[in-house]
Amino acid sequence: MCDNCTMVDYLIIGGGLTGLLAARELRLAGADVMLLERGELARESSWAGGGILSPLYPWRYPEPVTALADWSQRHYFRLVADIQVESGLDSEFIQSGLLIQATDEADQAMLWAEKHNAEMQRVSASEAAEIEPRLGQPTDGLWMPQIGQVRNPRMLQALIEACRQLGVQFRENCAVEELICQGGKVTGVKTAKGDLPARSIVVAGGAWSEQILAELDDGLEVEPVKGQMLLYKAEPGLVQRVVLSGGHYIIPRRDGHILAGSTLEYMGFDKTLTEQGRQQLQSAAEAIVPALAGVPIVNHWAGLRPGSPAGIPYIGQHPQIEGLFVSVGHFRNGVAMAPASARLLADLMLGREPIVDPAPYKWNV
Ligand SMILES: Cc1cc2nc3c(=O)[nH]c(=O)nc-3n(C[C@H](O)[C@H](O)[C@H](O)COP(=O)(O)OP(=O)(O)OC[C@H]3O[C@@H](n4cnc5c(N)ncnc54)[C@H](O)[C@@H]3O)c2cc1C
Repeated sequence: MCDNCTMVDYLIIGGGLTGLLAARELRLAGADVMLLERGELARESSWAGGGILSPLYPWRYPEPVTALADWSQRHYFRLVADIQVESGLDSEFIQSGLLIQATDEADQAMLWAEKHNAEMQRVSASEAAEIEPRLGQPTDGLWMPQIGQVRNPRMLQALIEACRQLGVQFRENCAVEELICQGGKVTGVKTAKGDLPARSIVVAGGAWSEQILAELDDGLEVEPVKGQMLLYKAEPGLVQRVVLSGGHYIIPRRDGHILAGSTLEYMGFDKTLTEQGRQQLQSAAEAIVPALAGVPIVNHWAGLRPGSPAGIPYIGQHPQIEGLFVSVGHFRNGVAMAPASARLLADLMLGREPIVDPAPYKWNV
């Protein structure tokens, strides 16, 4: 270890939403926290995502995903308000609701909603048109009025600033090359800029987490899943609701920007933008709201989701290595599950009563 490096309590690897929120939780509990990011903070999947605060078609997901999403939905408003106080920055949380069109799973969805006490209403095509007047071909569907959204880049900027104000130490352009373990315990990390000692380590490296754990038999199944997105710049108010149809969605921001997402591509660590992806997103978005056809497209990007088999993240300690934790594999719902996921991790690390049963997220090797 380097002679002039002081030991930190918690060292977090990965500066996406998962790592940043974990850093804030641990710092709020009074610990020394350092976060290491390979590139710039918050430029990967968390930046690229849409910020819808619900799984798409939530009834299709296993209970452990619902448990984290449900806890998070109940705490999001308070979280973004607290981060705004800490940072002075607005995450642009809006309760724009989620209107689901063209689904033949309404019966199943309503049973799910009843079981989970989720606010969900069946709507006719004409009711759908009242909820979102710009729809091209309104259909019978489902309406979840309480679903919110955040503007990811804004929330991440606010969170980074909040963490700074709280005293989290950041090191950017500092890739972790290897974990250092001695006698069944993790003691630090190797980076190109030297070794750093820590009492406990959290791997929150998103799609790259298995690379960070390469020396270990990690038992994780995390793989990159590419998602392309398009951004329109419309007049504010053109579209008011998040609308989901045929697996594609549009998300209206306050200032008139409208996101159209997303593709789901198993291409390894490849973020190349494709003309096919662009056309798929554009035709789906313009089928939902034909008025988008005349609106300029001002950006097109891709991110790599940390895919896991059923979308259930791994949150917890390595069964044999003391002090080594993961929070990875949030797949398509890392923003929607983020508050609960960070809180559960901190509960486990700090020996507190966990907010939800931790068993389904356990790190088994
Ligand atoms: C197109 C798209 C749309 C999405 N839409 C939504 C949505 O609407 N709602 C929702 O809930 N979720 C959505 N998601 C999913 C969500 O964005 C992710 O689940 C979530 O952001 C994962 O966060 P993370 O912090 O785990 O990963 P990331 O944000 O990818 O962060 C991981 C970080 O670790 C760093 N890192 C990697 N290796 C190292 C290393 N060796 N050393 C140091 N640092 C390292 C990376 O550089 C990166 O910054 C979407 C994702 C995409 C791509």
